[in-house]
Amino acid sequence: MKTIGLIGGMSWESTATYYKQINEGIKQALGGLNSAKICMISLNFAEIEACQHRGDWETASKILIEAARSLEAAGADFVLICTNTMHKVATQVEASVSIPLLHIARATGDKLKKDKIAKLALLGTRFTMEETFYKQVLQAEYGLDVIVPTDDDAKTIHDVIYNELCLGICSQKSKEAYLNIIEKLRGEGAEAVILGCTEIGLLISQESLNLPIYDTSLIHAEKAVEQAIQN
Ligand code: GLU
Repeated sequence: MKTIGLIGGMSWESTATYYKQINEGIKQALGGLNSAKICMISLNFAEIEACQHRGDWETASKILIEAARSLEAAGADFVLICTNTMHKVATQVEASVSIPLLHIARATGDKLKKDKIAKLALLGTRFTMEETFYKQVLQAEYGLDVIVPTDDDAKTIHDVIYNELCLGICSQKSKEAYLNIIEKLRGEGAEAVILGCTEIGLLISQESLNLPIYDTSLIHAEKAVEQAIQN
């Protein structure tokens, strides 16, 4: 079994999901007492968030590069950045190590393509929804039609992520707000919704709505399991 390298802590609320899902996946695949071989660097999200909101992606990128190199030195066979937003610096991180990086948008794109989804709604931080680093992978590499919420709705989605979900707060009010926004996007023709922020799955699940959801933290963790047990 290969050793999985996780760059986590962004936020730790969703890194806990990764840890659990990956171990569940290995147990399911291999049975018995098998559990995942994991090396993890869990960062201080306050430092990363401060970089994001002042637009200092270079410092953020250096922090992630150092983490990826430490994971490689510790024996990781491949690495995951356990957040969608920080894939803004995925190219730099990938270039700084000789082990592969499992890209979260590609893991998700593969699944959408397999399920023959053509048009989808993307929810995430404003960075993920509005900038090109993430959408471009889905559009250019997978030919997907990606729609995002209006400005006001994007602000709601973004604020709930930083002010609630990353602090472990899941309120009914925010859940309803998210479901309303998803309903509007369904009205615009979305056939599925990507939970393109690793904490959104803590707030809404498939039972809450009648549009298929693609939870990026679960998809990314599943891909890590596949890669870990592959010869
Ligand atoms: N975990 C979130 C994501 O998947 C947001 C936190 C962050 O900005 O890294 O984008």
